[in-house]
Amino acid sequence: MSDSLGPKLQSPLFDQITIIGLGLIGSSLARAAMQQNLGTTVIGFDRSPEVRARSRELKFATSIAEDLAQAVREADLIILCAPVGANAEIAEQMAPHLKTGAIISDVGSVKASVVAAISPHLPQGVHFIPAHPVAGTEYSGPDAGFATLFNKRWCIVTPLPDSSEAAIAKVAEFWQACGSNVELMSPHHHDQVLAITSHIPHLIAYNIVGTAAHMEAVTQSEVIKFSAGGFRDFTRIAASDPTMWRDVFLNNKEAVLEMLGRFTEDLTALQRMIRYGDGDGLFDLFTRTRDIRRNIIAEGQETAAPDFGRRSESEPQK
Ligand code: NAP
Repeated sequence: MSDSLGPKLQSPLFDQITIIGLGLIGSSLARAAMQQNLGTTVIGFDRSPEVRARSRELKFATSIAEDLAQAVREADLIILCAPVGANAEIAEQMAPHLKTGAIISDVGSVKASVVAAISPHLPQGVHFIPAHPVAGTEYSGPDAGFATLFNKRWCIVTPLPDSSEAAIAKVAEFWQACGSNVELMSPHHHDQVLAITSHIPHLIAYNIVGTAAHMEAVTQSEVIKFSAGGFRDFTRIAASDPTMWRDVFLNNKEAVLEMLGRFTEDLTALQRMIRYGDGDGLFDLFTRTRDIRRNIIAEGQETAAPDFGRRSESEPQK
């Protein structure tokens, strides 16, 4: 699914790129930026001393800074890759040290609340261009990252009404060089789309795995033994990072609750079909949903291989 990246750039897009938060997404971005020659230097920073030490060992950036001010001072592009809930604090702390003309971006899975958290802290003369790569795995931390994570995936860039066209173009170019397809939309629209395509599916997975864990009639060992019946596929999503997903639901409350309302109505309709033996209704729905999966495969966002075809040869096997 994620073949090798295209040819690296002849000359870097930025002089210094700084990545804050060196987990799955931040370390993958640093790896891609280094591999693709996107910055003359790629500087990493993480609040955790253990993550900084491990990142130095992994050598996926030019260097790892010991403090935030040092990390951002000379940066031309700064990408915030910490959990969404940490953004306001990071923005406030780095604001006095930013270079005029710097572009600040992020990778947060929600956008309207991220814009509200970061914007008030940023000084005049810097450009804030939020973004969200729709790519990830259920793993966390600097060891989980890999350079091709964003390859052939979408990156949604959500500029603000007064964003500079040149800065938007630079951020789009950056993501394209990481292999991504770029689409622009408003932060509000992003949050609605992602509520149904990502946030609600995660909520359902967390819920079904939680329900199974609580069922007294079904022992834990039976849940694991017979998991290939479908449950297993929910457990992958339900293994996603608790901090990240707590922050997603707390920060996209409105859109998630709205989509959850619709989902609940549709679930009630399904319940009725089962109760009243409406086989045609069930068959029609299941036929339409199968078509959606076929479209996802046709658009290259999944393969038709069994076992969800989740990992290609080029991705690390976990
Ligand atoms: P992750 O693997 O847990 O990494 C986050 C890193 O940020 C951790 O090392 C964490 O350190 C560090 N951090 C936390 N607070 C910080 C702060 N104040 N300053 C500097 N570093 C800080 O998480 P991730 O999966 O890469 O997710 C990061 C962001 O990407 C989130 O905003 C998420 O919404 C977005 N995103 C994730 C995915 C996905 O599938 N995972 C996909 C798209 C976008 P500690 O361990 O000490 O907390």
